[in-house]
Amino acid sequence: MSGLSITKYFPFTRMKIIKQNVHHEDASSALIYIEPDMRYSPLCHECGSKAATVHSKNHIRLIRDLNMANAQVFLQVRDRKIWCNNCRGVRVEWMSFADAGQRVTNRLARYIHGLCKMLTVKDVAEHLDIDHPAVRAFARQLRYFEYGIINHADYPIGTSMLEGINNKINVIKRKAYGFHDDRYFILKVKQAYAA
Ligand SMILES: [Zn+2]
Repeated sequence: MSGLSITKYFPFTRMKIIKQNVHHEDASSALIYIEPDMRYSPLCHECGSKAATVHSKNHIRLIRDLNMANAQVFLQVRDRKIWCNNCRGVRVEWMSFADAGQRVTNRLARYIHGLCKMLTVKDVAEHLDIDHPAVRAFARQLRYFEYGIINHADYPIGTSMLEGINNKINVIKRKAYGFHDDRYFILKVKQAYAA
C-alpha cells in the first residue's frame, strides 16, 4: 500500500480528512472532504467556550483553499451548530482554518491579500479564477481589517478566555444575589478557578 498522504497539507486542528476526489482528466480541481474530529468537543466561534450541546450537525460548507499543483482545491466541510452557554444562543462551531460564514480558507485569504498588494484586483481574480466583483468586495473587506487579520495570523489569541472568566464571576455574583463581603467574594472567585 502506498504511504503517500495529502493530510499533511491540511494541518487543521480538530478536523480530519475523510477522503479526496480529483476531478477531470487534467486534475484541474480537487475536492477534499473534512469532518469534525469527534475526539474533541466543539468550541463556539464567537467566544471560544466549549459547547454545552450540539444543536445540529452535517451542515455542508464548500470552502475554497489554496491551489495544489494545477488543481483548484475545494474543501467540503461538515460543520456543526452548537448551543453556547456563554453567548446564550446557537452558534457555529469554531474552525481553525476558516472563519464562520467565510467561503475561503484563512490561508487563501492571506494569499489573496498579498497578491492584491502587487497586482490589480482584476489580475488576482483571473489568476485564481475567482469572480471579479467577489475578489474586489473581499479585498476591500480585507483592507479594512488588515491590521487585525495579520496580527491574528501571527499571534492567534483572543479574548475568549477573558470573556469566559468574566461570565463565571458574574454567575457567582448572581447566585449569591451580591456579596456584602468583598474578601469572601474574591475567595469564591479563586475557589472557582482552583484546579
Ligand atoms: Zn459562545
